[in-house]
Amino acid sequence: MAFQETIGLGVEAVKSHLSGIWRPLYIQLSVTDRCNLRCLYCNVPLRGKKDLSCGEWKKIIDQLHAGGTRRVTLLGGEPLIREDIGEIIRYIKGKGMSCGMTTNGYFVYKKLQDVLLLDTIAVSIDGDEAKTDYLRGKGTFQAVYEALEVLQNAGKRLLIDATIVKDNLDAVEAVLSIAERYRCQALINVAYHSSAINAPHIKELLMTDHQYRELFRQLIQAKKRGAPVFFSQKTYQALLYWNDYHKDKINNQEPLPVGFPRCQAGRCYAYIDTDGNMYPCPVNVGVVEALNCLDAGVEAAWKKTGTHSCRACTAACLIEYNALYSLQSYAIRNILRRY
Ligand code: SF4
Ligand code: SF4
Repeated sequence: MAFQETIGLGVEAVKSHLSGIWRPLYIQLSVTDRCNLRCLYCNVPLRGKKDLSCGEWKKIIDQLHAGGTRRVTLLGGEPLIREDIGEIIRYIKGKGMSCGMTTNGYFVYKKLQDVLLLDTIAVSIDGDEAKTDYLRGKGTFQAVYEALEVLQNAGKRLLIDATIVKDNLDAVEAVLSIAERYRCQALINVAYHSSAINAPHIKELLMTDHQYRELFRQLIQAKKRGAPVFFSQKTYQALLYWNDYHKDKINNQEPLPVGFPRCQAGRCYAYIDTDGNMYPCPVNVGVVEALNCLDAGVEAAWKKTGTHSCRACTAACLIEYNALYSLQSYAIRNILRRY
């Protein structure tokens, strides 16, 4: 996202905090369950939800824009698998909203004209060739490398997105060296595991509590030495003191663990699933009740997301959003350092 857009989003967040009127400033939007890959930790392609049409997404996007949305990230499945993805991106951008995407990289070259319209693009890679191909499918590493080359040559602003489970626990340095090579930053998350978008056997892929803590220590050290770790040091520090990693979120009956910002899901951001159901965030897909943006309308669906009782979670990207949208100075400094 460009500097001005980041500042603009920050100003809107400040206005929400001052007025107490919460708007869906940032939306993650899953445009398809279809995917050419079958990553071990993911259930999305196996759910096989029917895609909404481009026209249906346009109706939702119109209502999001009217409701205050300023940034959209397209997810899936693999968003570039949709023939009409360029039309969806153009529609979002035509409304003056910033548009990002997370992709597995396979169709970047084929869809380059559409990809070039994006403000940011994150490509998923889970370590070196052996680890990435094991977790995401044979040939994936090579495909991602080719996508990164194409994007770098096109001068695109890039991110690398990595998910750590027990099988790629030692992948952090490989991910960081790829990020260094492409002069970008790495979003390094641990797999959450209670959502309907996680594979049913996800618990078999989780690390021990000791391994989680070693991983977060390693990420804190890497951040301190200036490695391209995207999330704040404080995000990983908070995660270091999580009580039980086999429980990926806690509710508001439990005390807020040390260092966790207040959850802003349903206050400043939300996630819309492939069928148009709006959830506070991806971790709560199939967990909390949701309203459908087409049937109930975006405004009602958004109000519903604000009723969740979730308090904190182990999803690093969401902790970082929570810090940013609750205007924590360390998170604001962290994001501004990118410019
Ligand atoms: S994690 Fe992404 S690339 Fe992998 S199967 Fe799921 S949707 Fe496809
Ligand atoms: S704490 Fe907030 S962001 Fe995290 S899982 Fe719960 S609702 Fe989602």
